[in-house]
Amino acid sequence: MTNIAEPIYRVFHSQIGSYYHGLQQSQWLSEAELQELQVRKLEKLLAHAAVQVPYYAEKNFPSDPDGTIRILGRLPLLQRADLQAGGEALIARNLSRREMYTQVSGGTTGEPVRFFMGNAQRVISRAYEKRSDYEWTGNLPWSTRKAMLWGQPVRQKKSSVLQTISEWTQRRKKFHLYQASPTEMARQARRLAAYRPGLIMGYSSILGDMAECILQHGIVVRPAAVLATAEMLWEDTKAVIEQAFQCRVYNRYACREFGVIASECPAGNLHINAERFIVEIVKDGQPAAKGDVGDIIVTDLDNFAFPFIRYKLGDIGALSPEPCSCGRKLPVLAKVTGRSGDYIIAPDRTRSMVTILTRVFMNLPKHTVRQTQLVQTRRDHLEIHIIPDEGYTPEFEAHIRQGILNTLRTSAIGLSFHYCDSIAPAPSGKRRFFVSKL
Ligand SMILES: [Zn+2]
Repeated sequence: MTNIAEPIYRVFHSQIGSYYHGLQQSQWLSEAELQELQVRKLEKLLAHAAVQVPYYAEKNFPSDPDGTIRILGRLPLLQRADLQAGGEALIARNLSRREMYTQVSGGTTGEPVRFFMGNAQRVISRAYEKRSDYEWTGNLPWSTRKAMLWGQPVRQKKSSVLQTISEWTQRRKKFHLYQASPTEMARQARRLAAYRPGLIMGYSSILGDMAECILQHGIVVRPAAVLATAEMLWEDTKAVIEQAFQCRVYNRYACREFGVIASECPAGNLHINAERFIVEIVKDGQPAAKGDVGDIIVTDLDNFAFPFIRYKLGDIGALSPEPCSCGRKLPVLAKVTGRSGDYIIAPDRTRSMVTILTRVFMNLPKHTVRQTQLVQTRRDHLEIHIIPDEGYTPEFEAHIRQGILNTLRTSAIGLSFHYCDSIAPAPSGKRRFFVSKL
């Protein structure tokens, strides 16, 4: 695959290019070579965490007579609650804040959490995208135009000049579909057609909405591939997307904490990015046999700023016992059956991802609110359940109300506040930040 434009665009991203070059080689390593690579990186990560990260320094990692991978299985799981309770203690002492950036993970399965990533991870993540989003879908990694159908509100707006330059050099453009009404969706669909992307990526549900809009208005958009990410891809949604864009839909398993964990290869299997992640499946506290469904536990071998060692994501899945016919020995994730996105649906049917509301609660002062749960009972009504902490005063109610209404940009939804001592978990045991009763 060559194209005259490829080297031109590559010039802007030499760091990503050299990392990607390594990944092009390592995807063909044997199982033993991949494991050796993981062990080497894990040893480095554990040694770093034990000394530089207060949370792990306290844990006194066991010594290593049986090999590092087995040690890993004996370390305690890291959970969202640990991030909430002791987030600061997970930050590496030997790195300055300028060497990392903040991320916030949404609250569809609990309270929102804040964490950090080392600056190098921006480059690393983009290199993995070159391999899976472009190479594996048969697209040129540097010159293909990628359209990203975004479901989150715009946070920081770059100046339009910077925006244009960055969109041009990166060959990608974001289409903001946050709360898009049917008219706005149709307008964005026409913009999308004019952009003529080779690749379209988006949350599964948003791709589904866009696909329906395109079919309804007879708009023609013909990418070479569509990537569905961040949410479960249901079969009927997939069928609509394929019909609208007349191309294959690739699945992709990604989350805030880690970026892309696994991607679909040309042979149709979801390969784990094993050079970066150790993915374990744990059932009743024990490693599950291949093919058995259990909790997905992820260790990020590249995040030294805020090490995620055996992090329980809250998703359920299984590892495939079958090797993939494409020849890559990167382990295959057989299925992810976990959560799908949650939405607040307004009376005019506009949908807002509930994760955007987590910021309202994240920004409250410490010791204000111990727990919250939002329950949508009707299209025009949202219940806010709060377990107040010692610092909570009646003024916060007005503050939270304003924050929610500003974020949802509507006055058509009424809010009622309910104060309680406890919030019951869902049948799965998860405390949910949002429950929809629509
Ligand atoms: Zn494969």
